[in-house]
Amino acid sequence: MIESYLLKNISGYIDGQWVDADSGRTVEVLNPANGKTLAEIPYMAADETARAIAAAKAALPSMPDVATRREWLEDTRDALIAEKEEIGRILCLEHGKPWKEAQGEVEYAASFFDYFAKSMEDGLAPEELADKVKDCTWTVYKRAIGVAGLITPWNFPIGMIAKKIAPAIAAGCPVVIKPATETPLTMIAMFQIMHDRLDLPKGVINLVMGSSKEIGGELMSSPDVPMISFTGSTGVGQLLIEQSRQHVKKLGLELGGNAPFIVLDDADLDSAADNLIANKFRGCGQTCVCANRIFVHSNVYKEFTDKVVEKVKALKVGDGMDEDVDIGPLVNAAGFDKVHDHVKDALSKGATLVAGKHPDELDSDKNLFYPPTVITDVTHDMLCCQEETFGPLIPMIAFDTDEQAVQQGNDTEFGLASYVFGKDAKRAHKIIAQLHFGHCGYNTATGPAAHAPFGGMLHSGIGREGGHDGLLEYVELQTVPDGS
Ligand code: NAD
Repeated sequence: MIESYLLKNISGYIDGQWVDADSGRTVEVLNPANGKTLAEIPYMAADETARAIAAAKAALPSMPDVATRREWLEDTRDALIAEKEEIGRILCLEHGKPWKEAQGEVEYAASFFDYFAKSMEDGLAPEELADKVKDCTWTVYKRAIGVAGLITPWNFPIGMIAKKIAPAIAAGCPVVIKPATETPLTMIAMFQIMHDRLDLPKGVINLVMGSSKEIGGELMSSPDVPMISFTGSTGVGQLLIEQSRQHVKKLGLELGGNAPFIVLDDADLDSAADNLIANKFRGCGQTCVCANRIFVHSNVYKEFTDKVVEKVKALKVGDGMDEDVDIGPLVNAAGFDKVHDHVKDALSKGATLVAGKHPDELDSDKNLFYPPTVITDVTHDMLCCQEETFGPLIPMIAFDTDEQAVQQGNDTEFGLASYVFGKDAKRAHKIIAQLHFGHCGYNTATGPAAHAPFGGMLHSGIGREGGHDGLLEYVELQTVPDGS
């Protein structure tokens, strides 16, 4: 069992109180590196969620002014940085990602509190329109939308909630949060910090965990939650779209990806290979922005593949708590089996294994460590091109013309992240302009940052997180023509 001074209460948090499930039911949180139980969390359902919504609704009319809310964000930022090591340790244990990545994720989370603390005053200021029309001056106000329901995945246990809770509080919205059942402990630690260090009125922040279906159902059916921000799979996102119909809820959806990584024949191949390794194996390949399909110009296909394979063979797989480990375990057996299936499918359809182990040697019953794997001779009919693998697999696909790179890169209903590497900026930007992805790194495979809007096109989502647009997700615009 995990011991931590930030986990004094392994509970939900409703109306300023630490609470267990009404039913007394619990569910285990496991360490994916060794399968051992870290904690038992309450398995909450609809009734607890309804109470959390009621508490948040009651807190709404007395949300304090911008200055106080800014202080909450600044204090949370400072506390996260001060407690980086302990929060990172909890994150590493429940998710499995390497120690240094876990520490980096806490810093990343803090950067969202920092950005919204600094930008909220300007971001929320009313805008007086320049033109006097119909004998009126026109002012656009940004009003807090109300109680926000925030649902997060397991792959960034603190990064994903920071992107939501910081702008929600900045805008003046009380929140009801549902973390993923695989990784709730980091979130509980964040709540403990906010409970201890901020002078928050009751009901401003609420945490419920347990039954996804019941908690999600209550958030979606309540008329008192006008806005839902969800990060997770496209399938659940589509369900939320259907469920939002009755109360015409505003939805922010950050969904799945299938990122193309395009290497042109004039690219700096060493830099492209380093970027690919860093991007692909972060979180053991379990990130929405990680390269899923690697398109390499046929003139440099062999040279680039050799460079990547050499780097992959030097990576160390193991328990993320060991400081020299580069890649941890997959989060659960289902995640392992998906990678396994993708590799088996590709090999059966003619792909060649050039790094990693043959699938016959691997089994999720033994452990959840999947070796970083590279396959060549990949074609688009293979599962690893059709779906997000969400694991440490690099499939290499050759192309001959820029038109082919665009056509194949766009041959997916997803539209989240993409990357283009090549020295000729004009040529690369011509390709970028044709890619239907909300994020496109040019000569970098870096992911999102707090000051910039990030989000998906097509089946990858609706709305943006980060930047000014990320704040606007939590406000309603009210236009006031003034004829006086
Ligand atoms: P998931 O959709 O299974 O779960 C996400 C969250 O939704 C969890 O908290 C889960 O408990 C909850 N949930 C499940 N069913 C629900 C329901 N019926 N109603 C309400 N909530 C429900 O996704 P996951 O496996 O946790 O995360 C991986 C997915 O998230 C991948 O597809 C990945 O690409 C995506 N993701 C996207 C982004 C982005 O920014 N676009 C970021 C991270 C992850």
